[in-house]
Amino acid sequence: MYTIGTAGHVDHGKSTLVRALTGIDPDRLQEEKARGMTIDLGFAWLTLPSGREISIVDVPGHERFIKNMLAGVGGIDAALLVIAADEGVMPQTREHLAILDLLQVRNGAVVLTKRDLVDEEWLELVKEDACQVLAGTTLEGAPIVAVSALTGEGLDELVALLDRLLDRTAPRRDVGRPRLPIDRVFSIGGFGTVVTGTLLDGSLYIGQELEVLPAGLRTRARGLQSHRHKVDRIAPGNRVAVNLAGVEVDQLQRGDVLTVPGGLSVTRVLDVRLRLLQAAPKPLANSAEVTFHTGTAEVLAKVRLLDHDELAPGQSGWAQLRLARPVAVAKGDLFIIRQPSPSLTLGGGEIVHAGAVRRRRFREEVVEELEVLAEGTPEAVLFQLVQHRQPVEQRTVLDASGLARQVAEPALAALRESGRLIALGQTLVTAEGWQALAGRLRAEVQSYHTAYPLRAGIPKEELRTRSRLNARAFAEALSRLVQAGALVDAGTVVRLPEHTVRFDGELGRRVDAALAALAADPFSPPGLAELQARFGLDEEVIGALVESGRIVRLSHDVLFTPEAYRQAVATVTEIIRRDGKVTVAQVRDALKTSRKYALALMEYLDAQRITRRIGDERVLAR
Ligand code: GDP
Ligand code: MG
Repeated sequence: MYTIGTAGHVDHGKSTLVRALTGIDPDRLQEEKARGMTIDLGFAWLTLPSGREISIVDVPGHERFIKNMLAGVGGIDAALLVIAADEGVMPQTREHLAILDLLQVRNGAVVLTKRDLVDEEWLELVKEDACQVLAGTTLEGAPIVAVSALTGEGLDELVALLDRLLDRTAPRRDVGRPRLPIDRVFSIGGFGTVVTGTLLDGSLYIGQELEVLPAGLRTRARGLQSHRHKVDRIAPGNRVAVNLAGVEVDQLQRGDVLTVPGGLSVTRVLDVRLRLLQAAPKPLANSAEVTFHTGTAEVLAKVRLLDHDELAPGQSGWAQLRLARPVAVAKGDLFIIRQPSPSLTLGGGEIVHAGAVRRRRFREEVVEELEVLAEGTPEAVLFQLVQHRQPVEQRTVLDASGLARQVAEPALAALRESGRLIALGQTLVTAEGWQALAGRLRAEVQSYHTAYPLRAGIPKEELRTRSRLNARAFAEALSRLVQAGALVDAGTVVRLPEHTVRFDGELGRRVDAALAALAADPFSPPGLAELQARFGLDEEVIGALVESGRIVRLSHDVLFTPEAYRQAVATVTEIIRRDGKVTVAQVRDALKTSRKYALALMEYLDAQRITRRIGDERVLAR
C-alpha cells in the first residue's frame, strides 16, 4: 500500500483538495476548524479506480508549522505539490519542494488548484512557472494537472493520474525490521495508549514484542488499525494506529520510534553527507547550531564540517552532527536541517553512519572512509574500516559499519577467505597490515638480540607488550610467524631463527679460561665472586653460559661444568641404588669436597626432582 503527502504554500487549497478527493476533513483539530488553517498533520484515505487503497497525509503550509510538515513527509511514496492557480509559486511552494527534493521523493504531481478562479492564459503562465521551479529537483518533469474543488473539474483526471503514478512506484521495501516513526500519541478510553505513523521497513502484527526508542521502553502490539479498520497484521507503506501494552501516553512523544528490539541505532552522533540549499541565505559555518529533522523527530544539533571551512549555498560536504538528544535511526536515513531562528530550511542529506566515531577534520582517510560507507559494497565498507583502524576488534568493525549482521558476517567471511583480511583471534588486520605487523615483530626481536646478544631471545611477555596486541591475537600472530619460519618459539623466549649466542674474540678467551678453572677442580670449583674477579665474567655472561648449557648453576654461587655435574649425579645415584639413601656428609666424602658444595648439589638435585629429601637423607625421587 502507498501513502502520499500534500505539499505547498498555505491557503493554496491542500486540505480542501484532500476533502474533495476523500470526503474526509484532514483538519481534525478544533483550532484548525476555527482558524480555517492546517496546523498539524491530517490523515485521510481513498480507494483509487484501480481498487488500490491509499493513505493521504495532509501537511500545513504555513511557514511556522514546517516542523509539523517534516514529521509527515518522512514516509511518503509520492507527493502532490499544490499550487493555487490564482497565486502561483510562493515561498513555501519552494521550501516544501526543496524538502521533497532533499528527502529524495521522486514520484509526484503538481496540482494547480482553484482552477475556477483563473482563465486559460493565466493557467498557462502558472504552469510554466511550476515547470521552472521543478527543474533540477527530484520532481523535475512531474505531470501537472489543474483542478477545482469548487466545480469538481480535473478531480477524475487527478485520481487517474495517481493510479498511473503508483503503477510505476515500487512498493515500500520490507527488510524485516518494522519501524514506525511516531507522529501522534493519544489514549482512547478503555483501550489505553495509541500511537500512529507511517509504517516502514517491515510488518507489524498483534502480539508482537516491540520497543520504543530512544527510551528503550519494552511494549507489545495489543491492537492494530488502519483507516479505522481493525487488522491483525499490516505491511510497510501503510498508515497505522497501534494500541500499545504497558506504556503510558506521557512516556511517549512524536519523534519516538516504535520498532522491534535491537533493530536501530540510538545515537547522538551521526556522520552525514550534507547539502546546503542553493536558496540558503548564507554559507553554513563549522559548529553552526541547527534543528535536525529525521523521521518524525526534531532535535537541536551542532554541525562539524569535516572537509570544508564552511559550506556555500548549493555545496555538499561531509559532516558530523552532534545532537542534543539521542535519536533512533538507520544508515541511509534522510534528514533535513533548519535554521532555528528565524526558522528556515537550510539543507539536508543522508546518514552514512550512526554512532560515535571520532572523526578529525580535513583528513583524506576520513573522507575516503565516509565515501565508502556511503557508496561501497559491504566488503568495501568492512575492508576500509579495518584498514583505517587495524589491528581492530571484529566487533568494533561490525558496529562501525552500520551493516546488518546477516549482511556483514558473510562479507567478512568472504574477505577472510580471499586473504584480504586476516583474523588473529577476534582481531582483524588487512593482508598488508599483517606484513607490516610481522615485520614489526621481527624487528622487535632483532633489536632485543642486538641489545642482549648473549641472551637466547626476548621473553614472550615482553614481545607481547611491545606488539600492543591482546593475548589471543599475539598468540595467533606468533604461531603464524613460527609456522612461516620467521621466528622461533623457544618456550619462554622468542628468537630469530638465525640467532645464536656466541662467545668470540677476547670474551671467548676469558670464557674458555674460566671453564678451564672450573674443570680443574670439578667438585670444589671457584665461586661466582672469583670468576668475576679473575676472568671479568659478569652476570650477563654467566647467565648466557648457563642458558646455553656450558655451565650448570647449582646455587647462586656454586657453578659446575656439565661434566662435573654428570659425574656428581652418577655418584649420588650409585650410592642410593646401593644403600637405598644418601646423606650430605656421604656425598661430601664421595666427591672429596666440602659441605657447602655437597649441600648445594643435593638441594639442586631435589629441585630437579632427581632426589627427594626425607629428614636428613635423600632417596631417588622416582
Ligand atoms: P491549505 O492551507 O492549502 O490547506 O488551503 P485550504 O484547503 O485550507 O484552502 C484555503 C482556501 O482556499 C479556503 O478558503 C478554500 O475554501 C479555498 N479553496 C480551496 N480550493 C478551492 C478551489 O478549488 N476553488 C476556490 N474558489 N477556492 C478554493
Ligand atoms: Mg491545509
